[in-house]
Amino acid sequence: MYTVVRRMLLWMARSPQWQRVILALPPARRVARRFVAGERLEDALAVIRMLNLQGMHATLDYLGENVTSEAVARSAADAYVDALMAIHREGLHSGVSVKLTHLGLDLDEAIAYENLHRIVACAAEVGRFVRIDMESSAYVGRTLALYRRIRETFDNVGVVVQSYLYRTPRDVASLIEAGIADVRLVKGAYDEPPSLAWQERRQIREAFYALLRQLWEPAARAKGSRVAVASHDDAIIHYTCTTARRVGIAPDAFEFQFLYGVRRERARALVAAGYRMRVYVPYGTHWYPYFMRRLAERPANLAFFLRAVAMTAQEG
Ligand SMILES: Cc1cc2nc3c(=O)[nH]c(=O)nc-3n(C[C@H](O)[C@H](O)[C@H](O)COP(=O)(O)OP(=O)(O)OC[C@H]3O[C@@H](n4cnc5c(N)ncnc54)[C@H](O)[C@@H]3O)c2cc1C
Repeated sequence: MYTVVRRMLLWMARSPQWQRVILALPPARRVARRFVAGERLEDALAVIRMLNLQGMHATLDYLGENVTSEAVARSAADAYVDALMAIHREGLHSGVSVKLTHLGLDLDEAIAYENLHRIVACAAEVGRFVRIDMESSAYVGRTLALYRRIRETFDNVGVVVQSYLYRTPRDVASLIEAGIADVRLVKGAYDEPPSLAWQERRQIREAFYALLRQLWEPAARAKGSRVAVASHDDAIIHYTCTTARRVGIAPDAFEFQFLYGVRRERARALVAAGYRMRVYVPYGTHWYPYFMRRLAERPANLAFFLRAVAMTAQEG
């Protein structure tokens, strides 16, 4: 049942028709605010200030994906440059996360690369880090290729790898070999077929553990591999802490990453225990697909949203 609902929500996340329906529901924006810092850069900066005060770092995501115009892709890069300058001016502990389809990957690789280059160059100037998010399997090869290319010039940039994909151990091996395995490790948030990806939660978790071990092998670490463990799953957090202790990696030599609005208490507890925590802070008006992926991750989120819709309908 959970799998069917998840697949349906992920399909709806890509549907313009459903986007119109959901955005017309009065509580949608209010419920989305749980996961999105706000529509303006100032909203996101205020959240980052608060996180920094709590001992957490951030990575800022200007929401948008699959853009179909070069001008929109360019203005997304402009927004990232503005955000990086504001982060620098305010001395905030934050980098940025980008999606290559927001920077024009569906239009032309050259456009996406040019926009990415501008953002990473600006981040390098102000001493900040850029993480390239990983999107659905159709983009993985091109995302890794552009990552390799940008790493020829810059080292303040990393990428994301997804444990649900069968290909990921090979991708990680080749990043390690090239000495550029600076990765955020996630389970994966898209609807992928059994021909490409593990479907069972247990299998996806096992694959996650295997990737963590691969990235933390002595030979990989000697080649500079760095890992951010991005999961709210207690089993994964526990496995990460015990494995780090077993292989002699100090709590401040890697980081955990959580999404804004998810398991805040757990994040605070990890910081109190001496671990590094970075929170992914999205902002902007294009929150629909991001919001739908968050609903798909947890049935309770969907139930909460449907209750809010029902209550508004009753009041109306
Ligand atoms: C910082 C960060 C960056 C990410 N970047 C990418 C990316 O670039 N590409 C990509 O494909 N995926 C990305 N993801 C999403 C990831 O792939 C998973 O879909 C997501 O993290 C849910 O899996 P989980 O490991 O947290 O475990 P789950 O088993 O899904 O969740 C474990 C527990 O965490 C809590 N939880 C998890 N998700 C939610 C939620 N939405 N709302 C409320 N509670 C929740 C619940 O208590 C749940 O029981 C990212 C995740 C994080 C944390």
